[in-house]
Amino acid sequence: MNFDHAPADILDRLTQLRLADAPTHGGRVLSYVYDSGLAELDELAASAIRAVQPVNGLDPTTFTSVAVMEREVIEFARELLGGDTDVVGTVTTGGTESCLLAVKTARDVWRGVGSSARTGTPRLLAPVTVHAAFQKAAHYFGLEIDLVPVGPDGVTAAQDLIDRFDDDVALVVVSAPSYAHAAMDPVVEVAAAAAQRGIACHVDACIGGWVLPFWEGVEPWNFAVTGVTSISADLHKFGYAPKGVSVLLQRGRDRQRAQYFATTRWPGYPVVNPTILGSKSAGPLAAAWAIIQALGTSGLAELAQSCARSTRAVRDVIEGIDGLRIVGNPVGPLVAVAADETVPADRRVDAHHWADQARLHGFLLQLQPSLAQSDGTVLPATTHLTITPVTQSVLGELSTALRSAADEVRGLPAVSAEVALAALPAEVGAALLAPDAPPLTSEQAGGLLAMMGLAEASDGLPDRMAPLLALIGALPSTLTERLLTELIARLVETPR
Ligand SMILES: *Cc1c(COP(=O)(O)O)cnc(C)c1O
Repeated sequence: MNFDHAPADILDRLTQLRLADAPTHGGRVLSYVYDSGLAELDELAASAIRAVQPVNGLDPTTFTSVAVMEREVIEFARELLGGDTDVVGTVTTGGTESCLLAVKTARDVWRGVGSSARTGTPRLLAPVTVHAAFQKAAHYFGLEIDLVPVGPDGVTAAQDLIDRFDDDVALVVVSAPSYAHAAMDPVVEVAAAAAQRGIACHVDACIGGWVLPFWEGVEPWNFAVTGVTSISADLHKFGYAPKGVSVLLQRGRDRQRAQYFATTRWPGYPVVNPTILGSKSAGPLAAAWAIIQALGTSGLAELAQSCARSTRAVRDVIEGIDGLRIVGNPVGPLVAVAADETVPADRRVDAHHWADQARLHGFLLQLQPSLAQSDGTVLPATTHLTITPVTQSVLGELSTALRSAADEVRGLPAVSAEVALAALPAEVGAALLAPDAPPLTSEQAGGLLAMMGLAEASDGLPDRMAPLLALIGALPSTLTERLLTELIARLVETPR
C-alpha cells in the first residue's frame, strides 16, 4: 500500500500539535489531568491499551478478556466502596456516562418497568452544586431537574433536600465531594430519609471515589450507608487511568438490570448493552485494570497520602495569602478559592484575576463563575485547584506562583458584570439583551463572538479569562450557552 503520508511524517505532525496542548504531566495544570507522577504506570497503561487495541468491547462473549477485566475491576471497586455481594456494577467510558446511567436506571425503576407503570414526569432532585452531568442526564432522559440552593460555602443542608421529597422524585443525588467546592454532602441523612420514602439515592463520587477511601476524617458516604442505591467513581481521575473509564455500582441486581438496553427486534445481531455505546474500545478498561493491579489498595493509599500532604500544603499557602480564602471546608484533594470579603477592598484578591495571573507564572488554574441560585443568593466566583500526586514535585514553585500572583493583583477589583457588558460594542449589548429575541442563527452568534473579540478561538482561549467569566455571569444563561456552543462548534469547523 502506498500511503498518502508516511507514518513518520504523520506522527511528527501529531508531535507538533501536541506541543500546543496544555502540559498533561508535571503538575502545571490543576484540573482535567490526574498525574500519578509515576512514569512506569503510564507505560503499563499504554501497553495494556495496545494489547487490546483491535478488541471490540461490545461483545464480552466473543472477546472474553473484556468480561474478565470488567469483573475484576468491579470486584475491586465494590470492596473499596463498602459494597456487599448485593452490589453489582459496570465499567463505563467516564463520569458523565456513569451519571447518565444512574439517572436512566432510576427513571426506569421509578416508572416501574413492566409492572404497575407510573406516568408523568419524574423529578431529579439535587443540590445546585451537583455536577452538570446530572443536568445533562435530566435533559437527555426527560426528567424535571430540581436544583436546591446551598449555603454560601457550597454546603448542602440535608433538610432542604428532604423537604422536597415527594412521589415524583425518581432520584436524589448527593456528592462525595462536589466538584466545584469539594463540599461533602450529607449522605447519611439524605440516604436514610430517601430509603424511608422509597426514593433512590445516588452518591456521585466521580472525583472522590478512588481517593476518599484513604482520606482521614471523612463522614460515611459509601455503600455501608443505608439507603445509598448507586455510586459513580471515575477511574480516569484518582484511579490514574487514561481518559475513558469510570465505574457505576448499583445496589441490587434487579434495579441494576434496568440500566440495560436489550432488543431482538431487528434483523441484525441481538443487542444487549449495559452502557450507552455499542461498539467500544476496551483500551481504557484494560489500562485501568492493569493500574489497579499494579497499585493495589496500598499503592492507591500511598498516592492518596501524597495528595493529602500536598493539599494541606497548598491550603496553608492560600490561607496565608491576604485577601483570599478557601471556600467552605473542602474534603479531598481539591479546593475552591474566593476573594476574602472580610478584608478591605484594597487588600482583597479577586479569584479570577489571581488565576489569570498564576497562568503567567506557569500554572493553569480553573476559573468557576459566580452563580445566582433560585432563592436569590449568589455563590461567589471561585478558582478551582485539583491536587494530584505529582503536585508534590512542584510544591515550591506552585507556592511561589500562588503568592506572587496574589501580590500582583491585590486590590484590583473584580471585572464587574456592568463593565463587561459596557465593554461590548453598543449594538452587541442591545442584541444580547433584547428580551424575547428569537434564537440566534449560527451566523448571528458568530457575528456577536467576532464583535466580542472571541471569533479566533482556534488559537486557544484569550490570555485573560476574568472578563469572559464576568460576561458569563452578566448575560442570561440561555444566551451564554448559545454563544459558547457556537465558539466550540467553530473550533472543529472549516471556515465558510
Ligand atoms: C468529573 C466529574 C463528573 C463527570 O465526569 P467526566 O468524567 O468528566 O464525564 C461528575 N461528577 C463529579 C463530582 C466529577 O468530579
